[in-house]
Amino acid sequence: MSTGTQQQPVDLFVIGGGINGCGIARDAAGRGLSVALAEMNDLASATSSASTKLFHGGLRYLEYFEIRLVREALIERETLLRAMPHISWPMRFVLPFHRDMRFESTTPTSRLLSFVMPWMKGRRPAWLIRLGLFLYDHLGGRKILPATRTLDLRADPAGAPLQDRFEKAFEYSDCWVEDARLVVLNARDAEDRGARIMTRTRVVTAERSGDLWAVTMRHEATGETETVHARALVNAGGPWVEDIIRNTVRQNTTEGVRLVRGSHIVTRRLFNHDKCYFFQGEDGRIVFAIPYETDFTLIGTTDREHEGAPGEAECTPAERDYLLAFASHYLKRPVTADDIVWTYSGVRPLYDDGASSATAATRDYVLSLDSAPGAPLLNVFGGKITTYRRLAESALEKLGDRLPAVGRPWTAGVPLPGGDFPVDGFDDLVAGLARDFPFLDHRWARRLVRAYGTCARTMLGDARRIDDLGEAFGATLTEREVCWLMDTEYAVTAEDVVWRRSKLGLRLGADRIAAIDAFMAARAAGGKRDAAE
Ligand SMILES: Cc1cc2nc3c(=O)[nH]c(=O)nc-3n(C[C@H](O)[C@H](O)[C@H](O)COP(=O)(O)OP(=O)(O)OC[C@H]3O[C@@H](n4cnc5c(N)ncnc54)[C@H](O)[C@@H]3O)c2cc1C
Repeated sequence: MSTGTQQQPVDLFVIGGGINGCGIARDAAGRGLSVALAEMNDLASATSSASTKLFHGGLRYLEYFEIRLVREALIERETLLRAMPHISWPMRFVLPFHRDMRFESTTPTSRLLSFVMPWMKGRRPAWLIRLGLFLYDHLGGRKILPATRTLDLRADPAGAPLQDRFEKAFEYSDCWVEDARLVVLNARDAEDRGARIMTRTRVVTAERSGDLWAVTMRHEATGETETVHARALVNAGGPWVEDIIRNTVRQNTTEGVRLVRGSHIVTRRLFNHDKCYFFQGEDGRIVFAIPYETDFTLIGTTDREHEGAPGEAECTPAERDYLLAFASHYLKRPVTADDIVWTYSGVRPLYDDGASSATAATRDYVLSLDSAPGAPLLNVFGGKITTYRRLAESALEKLGDRLPAVGRPWTAGVPLPGGDFPVDGFDDLVAGLARDFPFLDHRWARRLVRAYGTCARTMLGDARRIDDLGEAFGATLTEREVCWLMDTEYAVTAEDVVWRRSKLGLRLGADRIAAIDAFMAARAAGGKRDAAE
């Protein structure tokens, strides 16, 4: 096993290739800083591929008076939508209302309500929900997203799958985002702007010596270690943030991370319209039911204290049953375990603010700059997918006077790779792709534009016939696309391709996935041989 040292120090070294690490790396590289990022597994292999996948203000957080977070996230939705109209799109959320619905009694809003209106006994009046939605509509300056309206569920198609006792609903706007693709596109853009992105590379130690960090990492594929010097270090380790402070940087800290697991179930499609449901429970939680990957429904999430290792989150039978019961409380046809085709689970790395319950713990981010003399260390706690760009700006602002000539904020308004088309231009892009590559059917063309936007053409290249795309692995995944993902999107295994760069794992059997793995391993080995010759 050999050890290498990069002689020239970089300005910024980022530990962690989730959304926060990749967002910071992109922003910093675009400001002219030299940047290196190490991710111990695949990009977005932890929390950032296990979210509910919403760019949202977080209607629920209004109950907790988290106005700063909600406002920042609401404003951010449209900025992000404009920068990535391929992987993000507007969605309408239907919130069914029934006058007998009861709510958790410990939120600040519930306590205020029980003080001024004690006769409500845990019920929530319609005007209060309408008021919350009015704030939601107006806190964040909407231009693209339509406003809230009231629905008559007896007449509206959104009422058909719901139990007859629901006659009224509110409908409001938020956005969908392909979370894992968001991470990869940030990494790719960072690299295009000069950053060095290393996947399957674990940071094992980081030592401060004067004005530099010596960061030692192990490349998992070869077992080789390498040391890079950096003027500043960012710990964006997500659920591992505290472990990195204590065991990698070896510092004492009073700050802690609270690991809160959230699980989702994916079922066969449960309803035939394109709106989502926002279901409210008596335990103060809410659960979404969202149209997913055309033929499926995504239901989640839970909120449980996570006791195990950060990388070992799984949807437990109890969480599965909780989600099934929650949705069945609203839907006419009960949802059962037989409807489930896939589950996934992730761990929220929340800042430990001492809140009593997992549901009440703050979702806001905390950037903590280590005050020791010498090269700076910035630890990232919490945060939402929705606020990653603003978090990156704040991180660079915090590090600003400790780094050489940091440029100005620039990421608002600059598209991610493939996102350089108008927000309402998706259908035109699909039509253009299907016209110029006539062997693609509509569904296939849509999938490619959703994944790659304007880069779908580059991926297809000079193909004139299906055969030009090489081996077909099933579900419209071809050799050409897999090679593109290996060459431009850091994919190494079939799992990277079918569960993070895409969700084709929902449609491909184990034998097909094994064939993709074999193909990728052979190609990687061939590439290494070519390089050696
Ligand atoms: C169930 C659930 C639902 C959610 N839904 C939403 C939502 O709908 N909208 C929203 O805005 N937000 C949502 N969130 C929040 C959002 O997903 C997280 O805040 C965000 O993904 C955290 O990103 P991160 O980069 O901090 O962490 P991560 O994505 O976990 O990234 C940290 C990375 O660091 C790497 N790492 C750790 N140690 C090392 C080391 N020593 N060397 C190298 N690499 C290392 C890990 O492998 C990991 O990939 C949700 C979260 C959960 C759990």
